Amino acid sequence: MPELPEVETIARGLDRRVAGDAIESVWIGSRTQPLKSPAGVIARTLEGRRIVRVHRAGKHIVFDLDREAPASQMRKGKRAVSVETRLAASPSSAEMQTRQAVSLKTAQWIVHLGMTGRMVVCEPAAEIAKHTHLIAKLASGRELRFIDPRMFGKLSVHPAGFDPGGVEPLEVSAERFVALFRGRKTPIKSALLNQKLLRGVGNIYADESLFRAGIRPRRRAAAITRKQLGRLHRAVREVLREAITLGGSSISDYVDADGEEGFFQFQHRVYGREGEPCLVCGTAIRRVVLAGRSSHYCPKCQK
Ligand SMILES: [Zn+2]
Repeated sequence: MPELPEVETIARGLDRRVAGDAIESVWIGSRTQPLKSPAGVIARTLEGRRIVRVHRAGKHIVFDLDREAPASQMRKGKRAVSVETRLAASPSSAEMQTRQAVSLKTAQWIVHLGMTGRMVVCEPAAEIAKHTHLIAKLASGRELRFIDPRMFGKLSVHPAGFDPGGVEPLEVSAERFVALFRGRKTPIKSALLNQKLLRGVGNIYADESLFRAGIRPRRRAAAITRKQLGRLHRAVREVLREAITLGGSSISDYVDADGEEGFFQFQHRVYGREGEPCLVCGTAIRRVVLAGRSSHYCPKCQK
């Protein structure tokens, strides 16, 4: 599953490629699984919008959209509308909120890649991959496609100001970080993975951060001193920044917005290294299962 650094890398790649472009028309496949907003609402919200910026919020890709049509689109004078409308007869309140996005001047398109989701920017002639769920035709002549074989990804539209909850780990202050975790009775690893606390820290980077901070994954958050939490705060940001610099980790089989796998492997020190020697002290790395997820640690370096 793409984690924060991968999603950041993909969002930056998309921003470089499509910011300033406009969405002329949208095709959405008949599978409803990846859709959190009704297909008709997604299509009508996206069509005719300019992509102002693409960025990351937690593990979500956020497209900021507005209504200003670029010059190229004005010249064409009209836009194609080619989506089948599948609106529910009696919408829930969540749907009503989503539908507001259609008419507002600014809106956001939220993409969660799930396990296997990909976003690809390509020429229209490029072969349409199996499991393509959405194709947005861009004013530049290119297409933006969402592909997801396992369909754990999610697409939705919102009025501006989408908030996935939790605190952004790259922006959180040391004080706030300590306050988030102090007094929690759960293992620190579980608390790090809790998206309501920090958003976007997943299994790999939680293990790597705990290693650098010298804290065992099973330690109760409440038993960790303020000073150690301060170390963990630095470690989380350090690990995430390094991974972003390297373009995310290639451990999952996602590809970036070009459709090419071009990432350097993040140098894992503990994750996936069970039985291998610790890079610091040579002790064999151990693996424990915590809440159904593998956790890796060095029994000597981590207390
Ligand atoms: Zn060690």
